[in-house]
Amino acid sequence: MTGPVRLSFGRTRSVCPECLTTIPAERFAVGDTVYLDKTCPTHGRVVTPVWRGLRSYEMWSRSPRATALPVSAAADIAEGCPRDCGLCADHRQQSCCVLIEVTSRCDLVCPVCFASAGRHGVDTPIGDIGLALDKLRDGSGQVHIQLSGGEPTVRDDLPEIVALVRAKGFDFVQLNTNGLRIGREPDYLAALVDAGLDCVFLQFDGVSDAVYKQLRGRNLLAEKRLAIASARAAGVGVVLVPTLVPGVNTGEIGAIVDFAKAEMPTVRAVHFQPVSYFGRNLRAPRDQDRITLPEVIEALIDHADGAIRLEDFRPGSAENPFCSFSGRFAVDRAGRFRSDPEPQSSCCGSPEVEAAVGEGGCCGTTARRSPEVVRAQRYVAGQWATTPEQQAPVAGLEAFDAFLEQQSHRLSLSGMAFQDAWTLDLDRLRQCHIHVAQSDGRVVPFCAYNLTDIGGRSLYREPST
Ligand code: SF4
Ligand code: SF4
Repeated sequence: MTGPVRLSFGRTRSVCPECLTTIPAERFAVGDTVYLDKTCPTHGRVVTPVWRGLRSYEMWSRSPRATALPVSAAADIAEGCPRDCGLCADHRQQSCCVLIEVTSRCDLVCPVCFASAGRHGVDTPIGDIGLALDKLRDGSGQVHIQLSGGEPTVRDDLPEIVALVRAKGFDFVQLNTNGLRIGREPDYLAALVDAGLDCVFLQFDGVSDAVYKQLRGRNLLAEKRLAIASARAAGVGVVLVPTLVPGVNTGEIGAIVDFAKAEMPTVRAVHFQPVSYFGRNLRAPRDQDRITLPEVIEALIDHADGAIRLEDFRPGSAENPFCSFSGRFAVDRAGRFRSDPEPQSSCCGSPEVEAAVGEGGCCGTTARRSPEVVRAQRYVAGQWATTPEQQAPVAGLEAFDAFLEQQSHRLSLSGMAFQDAWTLDLDRLRQCHIHVAQSDGRVVPFCAYNLTDIGGRSLYREPST
C-alpha cells in the first residue's frame, strides 16, 4: 500500500500556535491542496491548509520575487524573525502602506476584529501622531498612510489628523472604517475629503443582514449603503473590504461583486480578506474554517460565467506572491467583465496613476525606493483613490470625457491572505510591505503586529482594554 503522493514545495520557518516559538516548517501538496507542516518540540505537530489550487500555486510560484532592503533598518537582528521588528536588516521589502492607529476605541464589538478594539479604548494624542509621522518620513520615505484603529471615525478631530498627514508631506491617505459615522454624517466625510482624504476602505462583508449579525454583532447593511452614498456625495472612491468566513459569507462573493458593479464608479474595487485567526477570534481553526486565495478567485471566475479566467489575476508585485492576488476589469453596459490589466511597463507608465499621483509624487521621491513598492503604491492610488472627476487630466473636453468613460467602467478585484499563528510563513512575512507605525519610529509588518498565540498573547500589540 502506498499513501497519497506528497509534493514538497520547500522549507521555511513558522511559529508554534501555542507558544509562538520559531520552528522549522515545510510546504507540501497532497492532491490540490498546499499545506504548511511544522512541529513544536513542546506542543507537537500542526498541519494547516494554505492554498487550495495547485495550478495557481505553480503559477504564483513562477512570479518574480521582487525583494528590496528597507530604506533604513531601525532594529538589530537579535532574537530572529518575527521578534526583531522593525524593520530589522533581515527584512526584504520596504514600507508601501503604513497604518497609523489613531485610536483603540470602536463603535462596534466585532467577533472577527484584528485589533480586539472595544468601547473603552484610548485615542492616540495628535502630537504623538505628528511625531510618529515625522519619524516615518525620515525612516521610510514616501509611504501611503492608512488611518486605522479601532475605528478612526470615533474621533471628532480626524479631519485635523488627515490634514496633518498631508502637511507632513505624505501623498496618499486612506481611511479604514466600518462606515457607520460617515454614513450618518455626510458632512464629516466631506470634511475628511477637504482635508486631503483619498480613499475609503469600507468594511463590507456581504449583502444580507444575517452576515453582519454574525460577523459584526448587528444588522448593518443599510448603514453600509449610507456610507457609500456619503462617499458619492463627497466625491471619494470606496474599496469594499469583505472578511470572508466559510459558512457565513463565502456564498455571497458573487453578490458582493454585483453590488460593487451597481455602485461604480464610487466603488472602485473589492478587496477580499479570508478570515485569519487572531485577536478576538481565538480557537484552533479546523481546515474547513479557512478559505484560501485561489478559492476566492475560483468563486469570482464561476460568478463571471466564463468572462474572466485565472490568467486575468496575478500575484502582488511588491509583497510575497502568496500573500495576494489582483485583477482589473472593464465592465460593459450589460455588466459583463473583460480583463483590463494595468500597464506594467514601468513604475511611471500608467497614465491614470500619473493623473492621480501628480507632480512631485512617487517619481520625485524614489531615490532609495524599491520600484515594486512604488508600482504598488501607484496602482493603489490609480485604482482605489478619489472618483474619476478628481483624477481626470485636464487635456481638453474630449479627452476628459473619454477618461471619465474609461474610469467609470473599471473595477479591481483583489485579495490578501493575512497570516495567523497557524499559517505564518516567515519567507512571506519578511517580504511584507504593509506595516504598522510604532510611536518610537519602528514599523512592524502587519501580520507580525497582529499575531497572537492561541491564548491571545501578542508579540507587539498592547493588550486590549
Ligand atoms: S518580520 Fe521583518 S522586520 Fe520583523 S523580525 Fe522578521 S525580518 Fe525582521
Ligand atoms: S500583511 Fe501579511 S499577508 Fe499582507 S503582505 Fe504583509 S505578510 Fe503578506
